[in-house]
Formats: sequence, C-alpha cells, structure tokens
Amino acid sequence: MTMAQITSSVTPYIAVPTFRRDVIVSVAIVIFLGLFVWLSLRCSNPPTAIGPDAAPSLFSSGRALVQLRSITQRPHPVGSLEHDVVRDYILREISAEGLTPSVQRTTAVNRRWGGILRTGTVQNLLARLEGTEPGKAVLLVAHYDSWPQAFGASDDGAGVVTLLETLRALKAGSPLKNDVIFLFTDGEESGLLGAYAFMEEHPWSADVGVVFNFEARGSRGPSIMFETSEQNGWLIREFAKAAPHPVSHSLAYELYKLLPNDTDLTIFRNRGLAGLNFAYIDGLPSYHTQLDSVSELDERSLQHHGSYALALTRHFGNLDLREVQAPDNVYFDLLSTKLIYYPVSWARWLSAMVAILLIGLVVFGLRRGRLNLQGLALSVLALAVSGIAAAGLTTLILRMVYRLDYSSNTSLEGGTYHSNIYLLSFIALTIGLTAVVYVLFSRKVSVENLTVGPLLWWMILMILTWVYLPGATYLFTWPLLFMLTPFWLILKRRRSQHSLDLLIILLISALPVVALMTPLFYQIFSGFGLNGIWVVAVLLVLLLGLLVPHLALVARPNKWVLPGASVLVSVVLLLIGILRPHFDAAHPKPNSLFYGLDANAGTAIWGSFDDEPDEWTARFLSSRPESRPLPAFFAITSTPYLQMTAPIAPLDAPNVELLDDKSNNGVRTLHLRLTSPRRASVLTFFLDSKVEVLRATVNGKLIDSDNTPALKSFTNNWVLRYFGPPAEGVYVNVEVKTSEPLKVRLIDLSYGLPQLPGAPATDRPDYMIPASTSSNHSTLVSRSFTF
Ligand SMILES: [Zn+2]
Repeated sequence: MTMAQITSSVTPYIAVPTFRRDVIVSVAIVIFLGLFVWLSLRCSNPPTAIGPDAAPSLFSSGRALVQLRSITQRPHPVGSLEHDVVRDYILREISAEGLTPSVQRTTAVNRRWGGILRTGTVQNLLARLEGTEPGKAVLLVAHYDSWPQAFGASDDGAGVVTLLETLRALKAGSPLKNDVIFLFTDGEESGLLGAYAFMEEHPWSADVGVVFNFEARGSRGPSIMFETSEQNGWLIREFAKAAPHPVSHSLAYELYKLLPNDTDLTIFRNRGLAGLNFAYIDGLPSYHTQLDSVSELDERSLQHHGSYALALTRHFGNLDLREVQAPDNVYFDLLSTKLIYYPVSWARWLSAMVAILLIGLVVFGLRRGRLNLQGLALSVLALAVSGIAAAGLTTLILRMVYRLDYSSNTSLEGGTYHSNIYLLSFIALTIGLTAVVYVLFSRKVSVENLTVGPLLWWMILMILTWVYLPGATYLFTWPLLFMLTPFWLILKRRRSQHSLDLLIILLISALPVVALMTPLFYQIFSGFGLNGIWVVAVLLVLLLGLLVPHLALVARPNKWVLPGASVLVSVVLLLIGILRPHFDAAHPKPNSLFYGLDANAGTAIWGSFDDEPDEWTARFLSSRPESRPLPAFFAITSTPYLQMTAPIAPLDAPNVELLDDKSNNGVRTLHLRLTSPRRASVLTFFLDSKVEVLRATVNGKLIDSDNTPALKSFTNNWVLRYFGPPAEGVYVNVEVKTSEPLKVRLIDLSYGLPQLPGAPATDRPDYMIPASTSSNHSTLVSRSFTF
C-alpha cells in the first residue's frame, strides 16, 4: 500500500495506533450488532394496549378485558356447568349489541384424529351482522370451550372477546358491504368438534368467503399470522394492505404444514374455505394449565388479536370475496412494520440469481489466488463442526437441566419456569463454541476461505428450501444477497486494506440476517420451548457463519476474549437457572392426581400420571405407591401409573343398555344406549373384545374418517369418546364381525376429585397446580358388560 492510498482512505480512522483501532472496531461491531438484535426483539413486541375509554370505533383491549374476566372465572370444558355459564354470557353480549344470536346444537364427530374416536354434543354460538350488498361473508372464529384444567384466558377466551369487541366496534362504525358471521365454536379442545359441526351441517358455511381464526398457545407475545389456506396469493396481498403491525412469514406456513397440530382452521381449510390463522405462543407454562388466567395474560397480545380482527374485517368486509385464490406467495414481515411478499415463482428466480452470483465470486476468488480448494473444504467443515458441537452440547446440557429442574417435566409443554435463563445460557454457549472452532481453524485457514464455507452452506439450504419449502427461501436468499457485496470487496482487496468503508458495508450487510433471524429464534423458542433448543443452536451457528468477517474483526485485538467471555456467561446463567428455587406461588409445581372407581370389582384407587409422589399427592398415594397399568380406566395403554387403594365413593356407575341386537351372516348389529346417571362430562366406550367394526353411528351420525371410511384399522380396542353427553344418553349403533359374546366397558369422567369421609382433604397448597393432562384431577367410574 502506498502513502497516497493510506491518506485517501479515511484518515482519522487509520491514524489511531493499530491495537487501539482494533479494539475500537471490535467493540463497535459488538455494540452495533447487539443494539440491532435488541431493536429486532423490541419490534417483536405486540402493539400497545388501548384503554377502555378509547373512541368507540377502535378495538380496545381494556374493554375486551372486562368481558374476558367474566368468562374465565373457572375452567369451562365441554360438559361442565361452567361451560353453560360462559355460553349464556356470550349470547347475552351478542344480544346487547342488537343482534339475534343462535345456537347450533348437534352431535359432532372428529373425522381426522386416529386412536380414540372423538364425538360429542356441541353448542356453536352464532351471530350475523348484515352487510349492505349481497355477496360472500367474512367469518370470524374463536372457540369458547376451555381445556379441563385451564381458565381459558388466552386459549381461547382472548379470541372470544376479540370477536365480541370487534362486533361492538363494527356496529359503531359505518356498515360494510359484506355480511360478517361471528362463530364461537364449541368442543375445539375435545377434537375440533364445533368446527366439524359448522362445516358439515350449518347452512351459513356455504356463505363464507374468507375465515379468520384466533387462537393462543401461551399467554403473551405477538399474535402471529402463522397459517393460511392453500393458494394464498390473493389473501396475503390483501392481508399486507390491511394488517397493522403484521407478524407473519411463509416459513411458519411451511413448518405448520409439517407439524401434526390442528386448530379449527384445519377443518375450514380442508373443506375448501380460504382463511388466515392467528395465535400468540409465548409463555408456554400457561398452555393448558391453571396459569392460563387473566393475570398471566399480556394485555398487548389481546390488543394485537383485536387490531388484526377489526382492521381485516373492515378491509375484507368491503372486498369482492368470490375469487379468493391465487398462487402462493413468499412473505415475511420487516420488523413487524410491513409485510413483504412476492410470488413463489419470483423467489425461485431470485434464489437462482443469488446462487449464480455467489458461485461466480468463488471462481473469481480462486482465480485471484485469494481462495484455495483446501481452504474451502476446511471452511465448509468448520461450520459443520460448529453446528454439530452446538446442537450436541446444548442437548446434552438440557438433559441434565431436565433432571435437576423438576419444573421442566412434560406437563409444562417443554418449558421450565426459567426457560429464558437457559435459553440465554445456550445462546452464549453456542457463540462461545463457534468462536472456539473458528479460532482453531483460523490457524490453518485464511479469513477469506473461512468466509466462503458458511456462504456455501447458506446456498445449499437456499436451494433445498427452493425445492422442498419454497415459503422458506426468503430466509436464505436475502441475507445471502446482502453478503455478496462485502464478500466481493474482501476478495478484491488485499487483507491490509480493511478500511472504514468496508466496515460500514459489513455492518449494513449484517442487518437483513439479524432482522430475519432474531424474531425467528424468539418464535421457535416460544413455540417449542427448550425442546427446540437444538434448532435455535443450529440456526445461530448459521447466522454466526455469515458473520465470519465481522467476528474476525472482533477477534483481532485478542482472539480468546469472545469465546472466553461467552462460555463464562453461559456457565453463570446455567448455574443461576439450576440453583434458583424451582417453585413458588407464582411458579407453581404441576402434579397429577385422579380418583378411579371400578364398579365391577368394587374397588377404588387414587392414581397419578407423575413419576413419583410429592408432598401433597403422597397424602393420597403414600410416599412409595405401586406403579402398574390401569386397564379398568385406561384400557388402550399399558403405561404404568402410580396408584394406591382409596375408599369407595358413593358414585352411580355408568350404564350400557342393549336396545336391539341382530345377527346376520356372522355380523352382529347392536343398538346401545350409554348413560351417566351422575351426569359426568365425558363418556368413554371401549370394545374390549378384539373384533372388526364394520360400521358405527353415534346418535345416528356415521363415524367415518377423512381417510379410512370403514374404520377397519380399529380392530383392537375400538374406543369411542363422547364429550358432553345429554341426560337422555348417547345412542350408539355398532356392526361387528364376531361369533363370541361381546365385552364392552363404559367409563364416565367428571372434573374434580371426590371429597371422601376419612380421606385427606383434596385442596392443594397454592404453590401446586394440576398438570395439563386432560384426565387429571378428575373422577372416573368404570363398568364392564358382556352382551
Ligand atoms: Zn385453543
């Protein structure tokens, strides 16, 4: 480098002594990237809550909260008395807005899930706000039943009051062209029963142009538009125009398609409706537990639900909804301010262009002697080693944490109360590990070569997503595209020529990857809890790989500072997580207890799904209870459960009445009536004999499935569950191929534990909550019959 070149560079920057300059650059990079990560996370927050005194045309979470408190006083699953209280409250609130609500009461059948056949009496609540013109309607959906153990504030009370407050705000504004249908589904938790009932039987289902479903799986965080119907091109375009504060990306859409999860929208979508699905997912310990209460709810998440519901209904309420399908879009939000979208076909061209440019640059680097094949191979290896090490070590430490931290059992859905501390510890560990690997590789491989390996990995992932998950291409294409310029500059210049302009370009080029990846880490962690930590670790290694030139500058003053500091922070955070007390009143310990009465044997037990008793359950189970299967109550599983003999409670056993019995060519047709004299909430009916069931109906409805019309797969322990059985009972018709007498078993389940004379009081200490298992804290009575 000549003197002229030096002076033509930015002089004040170059004039400082080398070491001090390196320190300044190093610290500046860390601070700049740190600030941008913080900003990206901040933008992930839901919008500010709006108080109850807001203008009537606005959606106010403050007003919605008042209603939410009313419907979350107690758990309200299908078949419970509290369920009817919530139903009546919603009907009253609809009437108060001047609409006439209706109740769709029918027997519904889940045709989707295997194993236990789920059926029930559902009561969908409906209201229709008439538009000014004929045309298709906008359908807004939330389910009003709760999980048996949960108050249902977020899942899905927030959705219910989102609909109610939206109705109120719409009435306060100018009328829309299209009708708006408000559907409060029932029996979602029992198997999407209300959604089936609406789509299969309700005449209004034929009027729907577009559906928006509101859900939650946690208690806070942004409401993410995480799922769309097929052919979402038109929907996404209009969503982008209308949604304030959009949080959404097509990666979620692709991933959700791969996961076994279902919501009501699954049923609407599978039956051809176009629609969008919204949920907030942070605060996993609240999911399906007693922590799903108003006090745990972040009001801003409710506001976010509402801001979508009102804005989208106003927008789609004035659109022509006859043609709502167009080829899929790739889309992602830019720090929750704007939704970027383009057709999948464009995404492929863009990816192809980036791949060609990158390969061209690598060839350029090889020709100029700045890159060599051995260096490239080692560079590709370095990122793989970092990824495998980070995923492996975090998984290993997580197992240790799960052993030490009892709050992390499965009843908290893959979270612990201290998940965030562990997450930060694992992030620091991943940074530290990757830094160590790169310090070691940098002894043999130049920075230029080390820069290329990760770029090639990104390119491979970009091509794989292009083929298999087109909605995910954006995540790889844009960061890679932005990295091409600094990569070109690095190859073009000699190493000693690193200057301020390159530094600025490097920092700007890092922004897309940080802006796209940071919220994604947060969402993956929210969605999967600590169980998804290896995914976060691998993605973080990929992100760091893209920042190799930045990290090389950070490491210049001293290459061991970053790895050393990261590992130290990781260890300290891990110790804080492990050594903190695991439970208190705000972080209660989940546990499990149920009561089972076997009417044939005349015996009763206390049972538990826990691995071992705690101080409260030990009062019922003793400190060393037996552990074995409970075929009288859980006939299809041989899982052992903790159990102890219990006093006999004076409970009427459920009854199976044989109304009709016909035999024809080895096929028996039985007509049965199932009743629960004690009006339990759920009936479970087992065929204990191994028989082939040819056909079955419940209350006259054929039990078939979306995939297996004749149900022939259920030859072993055919199980039918009925939620919310009416007083008159449930009528079941089964055609079976059998020559022997038929053994059947009926179990009825009521929520809550019996208070028995002489037995310990069933009230729990307040630092304990029932674990999220649905048949936990319940009373089961089992009885078998032979026909
Ligand atoms: Zn739900």
